[in-house]
Amino acid sequence: MRKRTLTTPTVAVTFLLVLAFSSISATAQQAPEPGAASPTGIPAVTTVPAAARPSPGFSAEAATEAYLARIDAAAKARSDAYFEGGYWLILWDFLYGAAVMVLLLALGWSAGMRDLAGKVTRFRPVHTFVYWSFFLVATTVLSFPLTVYEGFLREHRYGLATQTFGPWLVDQGKALLISIVLGGILVVALFGIVRRLERTWWIWGAAVTVLFLMFGALIAPVFLVPIFNRVTRLTDPRITQPILSMARANGIPADDVYQIDASRQTTRISANVSGLGTTMRITLNDNLLRRGSPEEIQSVMGHEMGHYVLNHVYKGIGVFAALVVGAFAALQWALRRCLARWGDRWRVHGIGDTAVLPLAGLLISTIFLVLTPVTNTITRTMEHEADLYGLNAAGAPDGFAQAAIHLGEYRKMSPGPIEEFVFYDHPSGRGRIFAAMRWKAEHLSPVPAPAPAPAASPER
Ligand SMILES: [Zn+2]
Repeated sequence: MRKRTLTTPTVAVTFLLVLAFSSISATAQQAPEPGAASPTGIPAVTTVPAAARPSPGFSAEAATEAYLARIDAAAKARSDAYFEGGYWLILWDFLYGAAVMVLLLALGWSAGMRDLAGKVTRFRPVHTFVYWSFFLVATTVLSFPLTVYEGFLREHRYGLATQTFGPWLVDQGKALLISIVLGGILVVALFGIVRRLERTWWIWGAAVTVLFLMFGALIAPVFLVPIFNRVTRLTDPRITQPILSMARANGIPADDVYQIDASRQTTRISANVSGLGTTMRITLNDNLLRRGSPEEIQSVMGHEMGHYVLNHVYKGIGVFAALVVGAFAALQWALRRCLARWGDRWRVHGIGDTAVLPLAGLLISTIFLVLTPVTNTITRTMEHEADLYGLNAAGAPDGFAQAAIHLGEYRKMSPGPIEEFVFYDHPSGRGRIFAAMRWKAEHLSPVPAPAPAPAASPER
């Protein structure tokens, strides 16, 4: 899952996109691979530490420690710093976004943008769309310093970004246009509902938001992803055949595997399941193809197939629906109280007035900030399920451990339990390696082979 800088107004759109892509992701640093590279550039083997090799005294704990010991102290300090910095960014993003929203309200800019949009047109839906465009441009400009720090400078400082400033800025511009168009459709629909159903809008609004989420998920792989990256069918049978074979074995009707040139923006390794219904597909990124051993790729694909077979996209939509209904109900309550108190001062005339949007954005981002441990635990639980499914499907625990090590290049491997509960949207690297080594331990002593059946026994 790619992290993007969140500004409050794009929370809805981004949340939607984030849910549409359940993925495993990691970063690549410049460190050489332990496995020797084959002539094709595919690292040929996953090297297994001595303590993780099959032996009578195999211990999942010792094997886990042996894998973790592969990360040297400097690399560990670096990824811990990057990841822990991310905790603070959640807070700074929220505070900065909140300050922008309060500014728009208190200085009367939101009311001003509404009046300006009113000069363009009095036709309500278009008026709302025009206001939304002003609002999004204003918040994007005001948030720009933080966006540059978080999305560009900091990523480069940790060796995670590959783009120069120009192409990065172009991508930001594209994202803004998409947010104006797609977010605009949602906002126009929501205000239409609020104006007609002032008391029950939060139920119908939640339903429309969920439908919108599904629409976004449906079109994302076909129309949204190609705006930023080139997606191609993988043709090398040495890569596709083991993956498609595993897909068939798991009842997945896939004929193709896709690859994306993620190295255009990032050094992170990733793969994902995206789309909905007929557009659902599994995509590997080129960093994974370049750096992952066949075992590692297979284990990551097993994880992604777990998301698919366990219907995580649909379950995610269901959970999202419940969260949105709750959040909108709380929003309804809080909006009325705030407007009763400050509405006149801000020249915001009610919840159907487009100028209310910064207040709504502020309240929604507060609600989702408080819900961070909840949303993280929901995704982390599904990720854990996909991990276990992937171990069974791919039968490549060492490949999976290797993938977790790659992930550890930008994720703290060994958090405390509360830290993991609050901040982790995937299981920790230590937990993932331990799950793999536990699986391995339990598969070292297979059930004793049955005695050979007599030749004359009837077929079963
Ligand atoms: Zn996943």
